[in-house]
Amino acid sequence: MDLRSFVREVPDFPKPGISFKDITPLLTDAGAFAHAVERMAEPVSAMLPTHVLGLESRGFIFGSALAQKMGLGFVPARKPGKLPLPVFQESYGLEYGTDALEIHRDAFKAGDRVLIVDDVLATGGTAAAARRLVESAGAQPLALTLFIELGFLAGRAKLPGLPIFSVLRY
Ligand code: AMP
Repeated sequence: MDLRSFVREVPDFPKPGISFKDITPLLTDAGAFAHAVERMAEPVSAMLPTHVLGLESRGFIFGSALAQKMGLGFVPARKPGKLPLPVFQESYGLEYGTDALEIHRDAFKAGDRVLIVDDVLATGGTAAAARRLVESAGAQPLALTLFIELGFLAGRAKLPGLPIFSVLRY
């Protein structure tokens, strides 16, 4: 199946110069979405993960599907102010300013083996913050699993030593 044909490239969204990868055509096709999740699971199933950490917000879509398929617990990494109890927070740089992700302090326990999941790897700042969150909680970041990797933005350079798997590369 040609999964690339289910990704729409939208020029100049959300700002000039960005080619936005719109995954809604993939999500709307049951077979294509299931195939994408199967492809994401393949390289990581032998790593014996215990949990998926999904990054707000499209990482929730792929991450929860992957967690169900692999029989793993799911933890949401949320934007600030959304979680009701004490959190770990990690900030990351954006083109203008900063943003942050949070998890509940009791989301993981020592020894948990965590797959970090998002839809797109761009500059890598979001995923690097997610990795630090897992480490703050005393758990082990096993790998980063993505549907799409934008190779020209070199996000991997911000994630030394972490295995990274993507289904489609641009
Ligand atoms: P980064 O921190 O630069 O790796 O950005 C990754 C986050 O931004 C992911 O959660 C993506 O959903 C989103 N993102 C960045 N660039 C794009 C793009 N060209 N198309 C779709 N989503 C993007």
